[in-house]
Amino acid sequence: MRELIKELMLVPGLAGHEGRIAGAIAAHLDRLGIAHRSDRLGNLVATIEGDPALPSVLVFTHMDQLGFVVRKVEESGLIRLERVGGVPERALAAQAVLISTRKGDLPGLIANKSHHATAPDEKYRVVPYAELYVDAGFASKAEADAAGVRIGDPVIYLPRALDLANGRIAGTSVDDRAGCAALIALAEARKGRRGPTTHFVWSVQEEYNLRGVLPAATATAPAIALQIDLLLACDTPDMTNRGDVKLGGGPGISLYSFHGRGTLNGVIPHPALVNLFEEAAEGAGLPLQRSAHTGALTDLSYIQFMGTEGVACLDVGFPMRYSHSALEVVDPADVEALVTLIGAALDRIGPELDLVRRPG
Ligand SMILES: [Zn+2]
Repeated sequence: MRELIKELMLVPGLAGHEGRIAGAIAAHLDRLGIAHRSDRLGNLVATIEGDPALPSVLVFTHMDQLGFVVRKVEESGLIRLERVGGVPERALAAQAVLISTRKGDLPGLIANKSHHATAPDEKYRVVPYAELYVDAGFASKAEADAAGVRIGDPVIYLPRALDLANGRIAGTSVDDRAGCAALIALAEARKGRRGPTTHFVWSVQEEYNLRGVLPAATATAPAIALQIDLLLACDTPDMTNRGDVKLGGGPGISLYSFHGRGTLNGVIPHPALVNLFEEAAEGAGLPLQRSAHTGALTDLSYIQFMGTEGVACLDVGFPMRYSHSALEVVDPADVEALVTLIGAALDRIGPELDLVRRPG
């Protein structure tokens, strides 16, 4: 699992530019002999047919990552960026980046003003992304043009993966390449097993608009949808009052999410699915962490309203630290246990599972 997560973290895939990461995931599906298809947005879809008497399930995870696009190339050859997704502006200066052009990938760095020239009042000021610039070594706009740099080219944090103590990994876009790895492992585990028809979708543009998966959800029309994504780990000094989720503490579910920054949406999960996962965790001898807070949102918020009866939804995930920073931290053992948990939950779906919420 560790090697698979690291492999996927190193493949560029800015929101709206998922072709390369989709190719890397499709290669794994080919290796496993699992057929897949793509739609016009780039969602990668695989289906393992099961018992038609059981409610069908969509399990999905986003393969895109946040970053930037080139906004302008200055006459000096320095490059200005436009943001794509929720980039943390206070953690951008001095980061290494990768610009993907039609002529190939180019490294660069988001410049940080020379410390010796930084006035005392500048030292604690966050520089907005629009004031930052990328130095890729070019001495003129003409040089950048000749190297293939054009307005709109995708720019991401320079992909990296570091092996930390205790088997943990720090790397680029653990959110949500760890989810992508989990979904590959889940598809492999479900091959040839009885159970509900299960659709696996590696989705697009989550970091950009939270709706990229919608065509794939429409096409598969599931009764149940599960999204695999991060759970905010709260076991660092700056996060302790937000909850109990611990890195290395095993997989978990979200009991409540709400965006809270302008978007009136979130997921209050279907109670039957909460029960299902609680029983599956107990049956498999796995811990089940619980998360409930505002500030986060996933595509699942929109899927729940689809069709004439709605879709029963639950966010499942792995603990992760430092979300949206250039280096995020995950424990692959949590991701592996999440795969086991989802498999155990799918095994427990029987014809008696009633998803209609009746008057109580
Ligand atoms: Zn994510």
